Amino acid sequence: MVVAFNPPVAHVNHAYHTALAQYDRAVHYLSISDGVADFLRYPRRELTVNFPVKRDTGKIEMFTGYRVHHNTVLGPSKGGIRYSLGVSLDEIRALAMWMTWKCALVNIPYGGAKGGVVVDPKALSPRELENLTRRYAAELIPLISPHADIPAPDLGTNPQIMAWFMDTYSMNVGYAVPAIVTGKPVNIGGSEGRNEATGRGVITCMVEALRMQGQTNPADIRVAVQGFGNVGSNAALIAHKLGFKVVAVSDVTGGTYNPNGLDVPAVRAYLAETGGIRGFRGGDDITNDDLITCDCDVLIPAAMEDQIHEDNAPRIQASLIVEGANGPTSPEADDILSERGIMLVPDILANAGGVIVSYFEWVQDLQSFFWDEDEVNRQLERILIKSFEATVTTAEEHNVDLRTAAQILAIKRVADAVAIRGFYP
Ligand code: GLU
Repeated sequence: MVVAFNPPVAHVNHAYHTALAQYDRAVHYLSISDGVADFLRYPRRELTVNFPVKRDTGKIEMFTGYRVHHNTVLGPSKGGIRYSLGVSLDEIRALAMWMTWKCALVNIPYGGAKGGVVVDPKALSPRELENLTRRYAAELIPLISPHADIPAPDLGTNPQIMAWFMDTYSMNVGYAVPAIVTGKPVNIGGSEGRNEATGRGVITCMVEALRMQGQTNPADIRVAVQGFGNVGSNAALIAHKLGFKVVAVSDVTGGTYNPNGLDVPAVRAYLAETGGIRGFRGGDDITNDDLITCDCDVLIPAAMEDQIHEDNAPRIQASLIVEGANGPTSPEADDILSERGIMLVPDILANAGGVIVSYFEWVQDLQSFFWDEDEVNRQLERILIKSFEATVTTAEEHNVDLRTAAQILAIKRVADAVAIRGFYP
């Protein structure tokens, strides 16, 4: 009997619908030709790979991965690699498109890409994770290069995985190529400050937005952070160090709430020891849903897509939302929030710190000349604040929310580049 191959079906993900709805909304404000508008709506190329991985038992198991290049008009495509059971081609398409807008918004010379493997990385041993990473990296060789497409970490991946990626590529070409990935460990060509960069950028944007609202005393401001991975945990820690009251944090196991402020370093230590936030003694247990609507001033969704939707948006108590995750808010929720006067700093601005420092890492690798952490953080802040101000100005000009403004700015930059380069042939 012949059994047809069926790629794994992830649970329903609305990310691509969200990305296209945001795009259509922003394009409406721009006078670009229908041809260019249509061109930018499509991913440029998409690769699906099905590959074998040897498990520790000796058994061979098949896995499915993707890499999507949304656009390469402004430079090589850039974007992370995600390991998650929720990965699907549509999710990766959305994330690749958001990378194009993110890079254009902060004016770094990249297009957008994203990749992912349908896998629960926690279900693999370290050796299996290495086998999977090396084989997936090898499958991507026709698509990646320091001048064509540069991967980085995302949900479920980390600097060690980037090191295996870099090693696999380097072994195939015969010499070390640090610039093939960013987010590597510092001792093999990674950048100082890259690991904390996304969280740091989230907090820089939060501080700028609070300043606009006339709120300048950190001790008065209660912050809730959903997600405690690289982005959420660093954002929470940096906010805590700046004197903000971090009242709630959560991970997949659940969350903890303390109206007087949590001891964030203690939460990090508890998580490292027990593997989850649930049960942390310094606060009351809450669910991830409770966290979204908890009593706070700033909400930082830093977990994944689709967390703020029409069911919970009417109950959100925060007056400011800063998106650490990509695509956490549905278009319907965007409308509800802006009607309610809740300010939202969109993902492509708020979490751009990661790819900005990735850009610094790539520049340092290509020049073999490395910067110290102060220099990295200074340049990061300069770019982010400039992008924040440009977004606010665009929002005022068009009388739109910050997400639409950020997309208008980004799409216009890419569309202008398309117009001047022209269509081949
Ligand atoms: N995965 C991160 C993002 O979504 C970083 C991408 C990169 O550094 O290339 O922005």
